[in-house]
Amino acid sequence: MSKREFQTEVEQLLQLIVHSLYSHPEIFLRELISNSSDALDKLRHLTLVDDAYKSLPFDPRIDLELDEDKKTLTIADSGIGMSEEDLISHLGTIARSGTKNFLSQLSGDTKRDSNLIGQFGVGFYSAFMVADSVEVVSRKAGEDKAWRWISDGKTGFEIEPAERPAPGTTVLVHFNEEGAAQYANSWRLQEIVKKYSNHIAFPIFLTYDKSEWNETDKKSIKTRTTEQVNAASAMWRRPKAELTQDDYQELYKSISGDWENPLFWFHTKAEGSLEYTTLFYVPAKAPLDLYQSEYKGGVKLYVNRIFIMDDSKELLPPYLRFIRGIIDSEDLPLNVSREILQQNRVLASIRTASVKKILSELKSAAANRLDDYVKFITEYNRSLKEGLYNDFANRETLLELIRFKSTEVAGLTSLADVKSRMKEGQKGIYYITGGAESLLRTSPLLEIYKKKNLEVLILDDDIDEIVFSGIDKYTDVELKAVNKSSTDEDLKVAAAPDNTDLLKPLLDKMKATLGDRVKDVRASVRLADSPSCIVSDEDEPSMKMQQMLRAMGQKDIPAPKPTLEINPDHEIVKKLLLRPADAVAEDASWLLLDQALLMEGVPLHDPAMFVQRLNRILQTSI
Ligand code: ADP
Repeated sequence: MSKREFQTEVEQLLQLIVHSLYSHPEIFLRELISNSSDALDKLRHLTLVDDAYKSLPFDPRIDLELDEDKKTLTIADSGIGMSEEDLISHLGTIARSGTKNFLSQLSGDTKRDSNLIGQFGVGFYSAFMVADSVEVVSRKAGEDKAWRWISDGKTGFEIEPAERPAPGTTVLVHFNEEGAAQYANSWRLQEIVKKYSNHIAFPIFLTYDKSEWNETDKKSIKTRTTEQVNAASAMWRRPKAELTQDDYQELYKSISGDWENPLFWFHTKAEGSLEYTTLFYVPAKAPLDLYQSEYKGGVKLYVNRIFIMDDSKELLPPYLRFIRGIIDSEDLPLNVSREILQQNRVLASIRTASVKKILSELKSAAANRLDDYVKFITEYNRSLKEGLYNDFANRETLLELIRFKSTEVAGLTSLADVKSRMKEGQKGIYYITGGAESLLRTSPLLEIYKKKNLEVLILDDDIDEIVFSGIDKYTDVELKAVNKSSTDEDLKVAAAPDNTDLLKPLLDKMKATLGDRVKDVRASVRLADSPSCIVSDEDEPSMKMQQMLRAMGQKDIPAPKPTLEINPDHEIVKKLLLRPADAVAEDASWLLLDQALLMEGVPLHDPAMFVQRLNRILQTSI
């Protein structure tokens, strides 16, 4: 027998579990049954597609066995099983970076952490919430040897050769005191299985000592009994009218590992040239690891009620990866492989129709279930924006679904509402990007809009700049970035005095001073209270975008220079107009450029010079 240590992360996780952060220890059974169900799915799939497994006898089932005296429960399945190596790597380490990420988010604040862990689900390790020790005996399908893995969940685990007549896995849970009090009870176990695992596709049997009244002896006797506990039906194939809210919520919990109810579900049966059923769920909370590259999508593909695979990019586009649920088709071959799926026309049409369905259901939720829609958009606005970037065919609908911060209203607003608020003669819907909300809201670029009572959308998500620079229109209305010089025409105040001649000597002086740090210096039509601002030409990336591209490692991007605009009505500019040739005008030119860049969130080019110039000017003014 060899003794091994847990990976540090596993130890951390076990610590948390033992300190009982979980508010629902009963879910240990759901987690173990779900592992068994996955193992059965995997073996079933192999028996369909792989010749080496086709001849193996396969009797898919999950058996629970309760021993009330010994205070043990076994969970046995006839699934794929684990080899010695599998046992070591699957039950001794955590491979998923999502879990690691989760651990790093723990704060030490028990209440907050309990919430986090509840959302997360810790799989197999949750057995240690109710157990003093756990034994796993497993034999991998296709192999003769079986192995036993034993652990107390504290000091690591041991592994040794064992016997198992057929492939599969048996998990033996030795209940701890609290666990025995709660769960060494057949009635309770049946209740938990029905609650979480009723729709698992395989039969779950429970063997226990059943008390029955014996008429002849006039006393209750115990008989060892085996009964099927779950319905084992593919619930999604039943007509909607027969299903209750509980049915839907329960299936969601058993396939997602989430114990909160889903926000929405959309159940569709398609008949006609293609026959399939889809049941999609929107989780109430976005999964913690949604933006990690290893994140696994949550839609499972079935063919005629038989599980084929999950986590396939072919099932739904990546931006909808937060959706969980089931696609069950009658028109795909059972032995379909990932490679075939990629070119499969049936699946491509199911996918297109599914995306349309999900988006149109969300649209009706936006209209009819406002409170829930607000919850939805708070979690998934960003995901939908990714769709705007990738899913050209559904762009119009996505623009309807996404919500925006704005200078006009508190909270979030839709483009339809923004459009309805447009002023007489307004040339487009304006937006500002490129930094945190507070920076954007105080940007000098917004001054003229405020003055003219024009609404501006505050796009402060890090992907906004990239996404929206590619989108010109919402319906027939142009979308315009306020930091682009093309908005000039829209803003011209009819009565603006034409003081170009007056300004020219100062503008020339500033251009000469700033040299190749700017493309141009000109009088602004967009400023009210600030003396200066930066604008970019229509086709150029903004200063902030250039900074992002460089941060992402693109060293060779040409650096288009900004255009500096000054406010002819500002007191500083008016004073400078009187003495453009003075030395102070030089310092002022630099300071006007630097402050405009600072307000765009661009760091100073030369902080030391900035401070020197500022001090020179302070000295003369104090
Ligand atoms: P998860 O199920 O979320 O991957 P777990 O910690 O529950 O995480 O399980 C880790 C891994 O151990 C599983 O991914 C699977 O490969 C393996 N495993 C667990 N239980 C079984 C089982 N009953 N049969 C076969 N493999 C299993």
